[in-house]
Amino acid sequence: MKKDALAPLTLGISTCLLGEEVRWDGGHKLDRFLTDTLGRFVRYCPVCPEVECGFGVPREPLRLEGDPHAPRLVTVRTGQDHTGRMLRWARRRVRELEAEDLCGFIVKSTSPSCGMERIEIYDAGGVAVPRGVGIFARGFMEHFPLIPVEDDRRLHDPVLRDNFIERVFVMQRWRNAVRGRRSRGALVSFHTGHKLVTLSHSPRHYRIMGRLVAQDQAMPITALYDEYQRLLVEALRRTATPAKHGNVLQHIMGYFKKQLSPAAKAELLEIIASYRQGHVPLIVPVTLINHYVRLYDQPYLAGQYYLHFHPLELQLRNHA
Ligand code: SF4
Repeated sequence: MKKDALAPLTLGISTCLLGEEVRWDGGHKLDRFLTDTLGRFVRYCPVCPEVECGFGVPREPLRLEGDPHAPRLVTVRTGQDHTGRMLRWARRRVRELEAEDLCGFIVKSTSPSCGMERIEIYDAGGVAVPRGVGIFARGFMEHFPLIPVEDDRRLHDPVLRDNFIERVFVMQRWRNAVRGRRSRGALVSFHTGHKLVTLSHSPRHYRIMGRLVAQDQAMPITALYDEYQRLLVEALRRTATPAKHGNVLQHIMGYFKKQLSPAAKAELLEIIASYRQGHVPLIVPVTLINHYVRLYDQPYLAGQYYLHFHPLELQLRNHA
């Protein structure tokens, strides 16, 4: 398959995850996977809402209070309400971030400013429920609804990590496709390379997107690209589970039904079953399939990003 020659993609990130001492107590939350592994393949654009908003280090810790849909950001000990200040800053900052061409954002979990979900919100009686979203994270996700966002805690789950990394690299290729000359042919080419990726996330979207690029000659090109992007993002938000991967692998097997001997078919089926049962990682059947792709010269499969995930050094699919 054609090698991508793309510049490193840019991810926004909560600054403390890079080891910067910006937390309320002067500490950090260095995440070695993000700095030492993923950091070799991406450019980070750090954002610390509380420091950039002018709260200083060290500072009194903050928490969310009140209505989960419109919480207030309040200092824990002295009860000062900083909601308006943070909201004004966040509105300005997300507009500035438009220039960064972000393909994703990794936020710090549990933070009342950065957290993307299940942030504690305190009621008038001081009882906390984990139903909030950090003030900056909410502003970011509302401003950039198509950009993948994950938090450091969820990224410790190999399946969620694999999904997020896949989404940001697909996003980068999509941005590249959108920047080039737009045409139905270019869209078909993008779609063809991502068919099995899409299928692994959502068989329903795979069918809808296939019909969209193949049939809709009447739709203006801008509307066609917009609709395709909406469906692509929606599809990739659905987690690619071992069951869905198993179905994709069996679908791929169909391309070899004439070439593989009964013994080779049985071996591949056994490996796919072992993967489904969690005994071997996804890279095992994918490696065997890639061997057959080369051996039997299957150009369609050779062009599938699903089988040639970038970048290999991230060892995606070694765990998922
Ligand atoms: S969680 Fe967010 S606001 Fe808090 S220190 Fe980290 S980057 Fe700053």
